[in-house]
Amino acid sequence: MTLLQSPGAAAPLIALRGVCKRYPTPAGAFDAVRDVDLDIAAGEFVAVIGQSGSGKSTLLNLLGGIDRASAGRLEVAGAALHDMSERALSRWRGRHVGIVFQFFQLLPTLTVAENVMLPMDFAARWPARERRPRALDLLTRLGVAAQADKLPGALSGGQQQRVALARALANAPALLLADEPTGNLDSRTAQELLELLAELVRGGQTVVMVTHERAALGYARRVLSLRDGRLVAPEHAQSEHAGLAQAQLAQHGSEQAHG
Ligand code: ADP
Ligand code: MG
Repeated sequence: MTLLQSPGAAAPLIALRGVCKRYPTPAGAFDAVRDVDLDIAAGEFVAVIGQSGSGKSTLLNLLGGIDRASAGRLEVAGAALHDMSERALSRWRGRHVGIVFQFFQLLPTLTVAENVMLPMDFAARWPARERRPRALDLLTRLGVAAQADKLPGALSGGQQQRVALARALANAPALLLADEPTGNLDSRTAQELLELLAELVRGGQTVVMVTHERAALGYARRVLSLRDGRLVAPEHAQSEHAGLAQAQLAQHGSEQAHG
């Protein structure tokens, strides 16, 4: 039984209580994330919206154990992140979290397949001989198997992001995080990536995605809105985002109105 679980309740995959992230700055302490309480169940597709600087990336990095909270408790995929040593956190992250970034961040001197194998080499969850076949299988599922032995620089942006997604899935993470994954893609390619994410969610994957894309909100089942580091109800979000959130709510449970 976990720290934050009430008796008889199913444990959420993610449970945050009173989570704060404070940065020291020359102008004094700055709270990038303030007093966040949040539960996310396994299998949810959650979008995080908010203006630039509202704390979206900071929140994502806290969920993924990349950043440490200054206060509060975080339980993610069975681990109490607030209690873990740096070493334990890094090991946990490698096995349980996959992350996709706006600018792909593939290693340019490794081939596509090697990029996907790298997290498997770190986590050693699969025997060495199974890693390349597994990488090729993931690349096949994501439609980029033909690129396996090329360097990332030879691929289009959309292809690179599919490879980055394959890499994020390498260790079959409980939690897939994506920080503006479509921010550097044209709208058609972005749509394709969102379809891939939605397909993963249909297969049971939990996804938390920071996004500015209106289209993305049609895919996520739930929208979290941040303002000045605090979670706010979508209807209280700033005007631009309130409109987006309402559009999402209007589409909830139905197919996207336009393709
Ligand atoms: P978003 O992703 O919503 O644009 P971020 O989470 O990146 O916002 O940042 C939230 C706030 O925290 C911003 O005001 C940013 O300047 C500040 N911030 C982020 N990282 C640091 C840091 N390492 N040191 C100081 N301030 C930071
Ligand atoms: Mg950001």
